Amino acid sequence: MDTVKQAPRYGSHHYINGAFSNAEPSRTGSVFNPSTGHEIYRTAYGDRAVVDDTVQVAVKAGREWANASQAHRLQVIFRMRELMLHQADKIAEITGLESGKTISDAQGELSRALEAIEFATNAPQITKGEYSRNVGGGIDTFSFRQPVGVVGCIAPFNFPVMVPMMMGTMAIAVGNAVVLKPSERVPGASALLSELWAEAGLSAGVWNMVNGDSEVVNAILEHPGIPAISFVGSTRVGEHIYQHGSKHNKRVAAYTGGKNHMVVLPDADLDAAASAFVSAAYGSSSQRCMAVSLLVCVGDETAQKLRDLVGDHIAQLKVGAYDDPSADFGPLVTQAAKASVESAIERAVAEGGEIVSDGRGITIDGHENGFFAGATFIDKVTTDMQLWQDEIFGPVRGMMRAKNLDEAIRIVNAHEYGNGAVIFTRSGGAAQVFCAEVEAGMLGVNVAVPVPVGHHNFGGLRRSKFGDAHMFGPDAARFYTKLKTVSQRWPQTETAQPAKPSLNFLSNG
Ligand code: NAD
Repeated sequence: MDTVKQAPRYGSHHYINGAFSNAEPSRTGSVFNPSTGHEIYRTAYGDRAVVDDTVQVAVKAGREWANASQAHRLQVIFRMRELMLHQADKIAEITGLESGKTISDAQGELSRALEAIEFATNAPQITKGEYSRNVGGGIDTFSFRQPVGVVGCIAPFNFPVMVPMMMGTMAIAVGNAVVLKPSERVPGASALLSELWAEAGLSAGVWNMVNGDSEVVNAILEHPGIPAISFVGSTRVGEHIYQHGSKHNKRVAAYTGGKNHMVVLPDADLDAAASAFVSAAYGSSSQRCMAVSLLVCVGDETAQKLRDLVGDHIAQLKVGAYDDPSADFGPLVTQAAKASVESAIERAVAEGGEIVSDGRGITIDGHENGFFAGATFIDKVTTDMQLWQDEIFGPVRGMMRAKNLDEAIRIVNAHEYGNGAVIFTRSGGAAQVFCAEVEAGMLGVNVAVPVPVGHHNFGGLRRSKFGDAHMFGPDAARFYTKLKTVSQRWPQTETAQPAKPSLNFLSNG
């Protein structure tokens, strides 16, 4: 395999066995700067042969890494944290350049990635085994966890740093090697992280990155050398990942799309609720799986007040290039994403929605070809409209009306997704009913984005998550390891007579 020490451009090359691969790719794809709409560089697309070579490297490196001491593994992870802090500006710059999110948003993402890294240093505590002495007949039973070997990590575009690091660091902390397939739209940050892992002292071949599209993903899903897959992305793709990966006997955790409702009761602090809605709904141009998509107002009076308050806040929002420090949010990731946002607005209007704020047709001086869409807010959304049914990954948010809490909960539960849901109220009783009845994995009470801290499990329900396992939080350490249970007996004396063999089913007596 031809390799170079440093890629001419982060993201343009695969990273395999501790170096950027210089092999001529059979296919390449464009990476854009969404703020200008221009192609920045072309990234190599891998194929089955590249995946196969990479898995061979990872299997071998993983075996050695699994035998490294826990102390050594954690030292590498601590060094990685320090290096990421040291390179924070560069990481945020690449993230903003390729994804379009503002630098301050990219810094926020980085802080959550660091939190995941810090949490991964708890791996020895989470994975330590259990021991029962003398369960019967002089037998001791104990269980322990071992790394699964190689983990395939398939990441989305909207968190180019946080998702690869959340998946990859815990997998590495418990002793696995990783084959990462970053989103082909934002491979630059993962390439920089690859270089930092090497600088942190991670052995070559433990962290690898293959760029590309579905061809690489399917090769990963079918490869017998990869026993575990973590995926984050859309529901359409995640369902395929889960089914195809399971068919090839892999354990799969797939986190997918969301449609997150925010229910506001008449007794809530409406000023606080309006401000929380705007920040949770439009941050990162609404390209977050936990962004609030729909404001569900209980009572017409609540709806009217919130409609005015939200409209006032939206009027103050500034859309701009990723490196404009005064911008509240940046462009969408692609021209196609922008077009789909515009068509969702047209359809919502045709289906009876009432536009409160219209973000179509904005242009940013000096960035006329950027993929920008302004904040759009549509009232009178109902469950038979596309705006309610589909995940719209862009700044188009809707407002719905419910007569009471029961009806609001029915609306939330009627949706096929169950990532997050939140309620704003001063009533503890109403909040308790909401948390008990709503079928979503992450719930908020007067908290608009209920993404849990790293030491709690993250993950949705229903079609927002496929597979029983968690890949973020304490359960991730269990997902990335296999459990063995040993029953052992050691002879106590030399004098024991060999017993007559018993063919009865083993009992504990
Ligand atoms: P996506 O599903 O288009 O892509 C995700 C990954 O799958 C990428 O690496 C991509 O190359 C690969 N892929 C795309 N099409 C494929 C195919 N046909 N076969 C195999 N692989 C394929 O998602 P995206 O647009 O990058 O990210 C946005 C989506 O991710 C949204 O739906 C968002 O809600 C979701 N998301 C979910 C969470 C969560 O925790 N639930 C977090 C972040 C993003």
